[in-house]
Amino acid sequence: MSLMKIARLGHPVLRRRTDRMDPADLARPEIQRFIDDMIETMRDAPGVGLAAPQVHESIRLFVMEPPGDEGESRELQVVVNPVLTFPSDEKIRLWEGCLSIPGIRGETERWAAVDVECLDRAGRPVRVSFEGYPAAIVQHETDHLDGILFLARMPDPLEIAFEEEFARFVREEDDV
Ligand code: ZN
Repeated sequence: MSLMKIARLGHPVLRRRTDRMDPADLARPEIQRFIDDMIETMRDAPGVGLAAPQVHESIRLFVMEPPGDEGESRELQVVVNPVLTFPSDEKIRLWEGCLSIPGIRGETERWAAVDVECLDRAGRPVRVSFEGYPAAIVQHETDHLDGILFLARMPDPLEIAFEEEFARFVREEDDV
């Protein structure tokens, strides 16, 4: 396994809409190796999610690993060709960060719950539901697959801060 370079804000790969993956490609060893490298790169950063365009591959694939609730372990998800639906009208506000926009946090608005239809890394169709912070991660990472960064999800563009000022003046929250 190896760490990959993460594209930063301004790199055109972050603005591109990605192509659906052919499920047959998931059987290729180099794709499985790429998924392992994404997981390692996300954990090393460290981050709770990483989308393929952030490591310069325009394919519809992301990995995520939200922190578990107290006493629970983190749950790793490999998500391929996600289709999102939003089961309720409820929205949440949270402060997000992004490995492609290092050192910056911004307050975003997201759907409070999301249902995801996708393939897992073995190419099996799965359906998973998320609420709250993990639901926001899913929306953040799926946005990356459409060339959208969290900056576009901020109701107030001035609700933005460097990490240090965020810690001093805003509050300690979650990092997407
Ligand atoms: Zn991001």
